[in-house]
Amino acid sequence: MFAKKEITKNPVKMQKQPAKKIAFIDLQAQKIRLGNRVEEAVLRVLEHGHYIMGPEVFTLEKSLSEFCGAKHTITCANGTDALMLILMAKEVKAKDAIFVPSFTFAATAEVVALLGATPIFVDVLPNTYNIDPNSLEEGVKTAKKLGLHPKGVFAVDLYGQPADYDLLQNVCHSFNIELWADAAQSFGAEYKGIKVGTFGECTATSFYPAKPLGCFGDGGAVFTNDDALAEILISLRVHGQGHHKYDNVRIGMNGRMDTIQAAILIEKLSIFSEEISKRQAIAARYTTLINSTLMGLIDTPYILPETKSIFAQYTILLKQNYRESIIKTMTAHDIPTAVHYPKTLHQQPAYQHYPTAGQKDLPVSEDLASRVLSLPMHPYLSPQCQEKIVQVLQESCKKTAAQFQEVE
Ligand SMILES: *Cc1c(COP(=O)(O)O)cnc(C)c1O
Repeated sequence: MFAKKEITKNPVKMQKQPAKKIAFIDLQAQKIRLGNRVEEAVLRVLEHGHYIMGPEVFTLEKSLSEFCGAKHTITCANGTDALMLILMAKEVKAKDAIFVPSFTFAATAEVVALLGATPIFVDVLPNTYNIDPNSLEEGVKTAKKLGLHPKGVFAVDLYGQPADYDLLQNVCHSFNIELWADAAQSFGAEYKGIKVGTFGECTATSFYPAKPLGCFGDGGAVFTNDDALAEILISLRVHGQGHHKYDNVRIGMNGRMDTIQAAILIEKLSIFSEEISKRQAIAARYTTLINSTLMGLIDTPYILPETKSIFAQYTILLKQNYRESIIKTMTAHDIPTAVHYPKTLHQQPAYQHYPTAGQKDLPVSEDLASRVLSLPMHPYLSPQCQEKIVQVLQESCKKTAAQFQEVE
């Protein structure tokens, strides 16, 4: 028998910080916060032995629906499969054009290409970095010019900030195309008081360990309010099955989430609301610290009014040509950083032959790819660590600025 251990409040604070290196994402601190609960949840699965589609999968689906307000949650193996399941349920095929922002993770476009349809790359807005409705309009015209059928849009909620769904819905209505959300980075975020999960016709998310709500492995989910669509998604997830295991009514995939991952997510979901508040407080502290010393040199994230980002990443915008030198200095001070993403998709070898909106450059995406920098971000980042990070950032910015002045 396990003695139920009390979960210590703020265990991270009680530890001595200085000896520990700053982590980009600290899953160890989260494990400490959870106490023995993850181990116990995994052991329960080992005891009952239903490793595939065990009871935890259905418990999790119910809890996720309650959390985000979607009528149906269909869990699956990862976020990429979630995107793929949506396209398969919508019977996307060759000659269909699907619009995706160029400034995103490759999976958003990859699933479109895998089905033989055409991803059309669209530019993003210079303030939110999410899809630009004007560029989307241009993309629809490009699709028609190329003899393709404009079918749907994958709006990406980059860095955890929901796209402007009301605006996008208007554009989609006027062109009679469907709107789907790639919310792989934004589960837990809000737009106009509503949680991510019900925008557009369906929403895909990812529970990859580094996402705001993550498994200890791969996982994903599709959310929808549409009963008929939910049934198709459930069938597609298990080889297009009908009423019987060996009854195949459509071509599907093996896209199930492991019971062990579902059991882990149930425990993580129970502290997610607390983690959301912490993420928002940490992001606000970064913004205050950076704006008080580096205003004009660094742009902090812009969040739309009535919108709450989950800050999957806290990403700043640097001056042209500053990034390499800043990363070098930060690394020398043991401060990890990351670039999401150093290259736009329409410039990637695998995707450069696909069309862009207006069949021209996408200047905002290209500019962002050369200037963004993500700082360490997780719910257990202490104010002292944040101060240290911003202090080193300030020093490296000044050093870089001085270098450029010498060159001039
Ligand atoms: C992480 C991510 C995905 C893919 O999710 P996986 O679970 O890694 O397959 C898709 N789209 C975006 C925008 C992502 O950030």
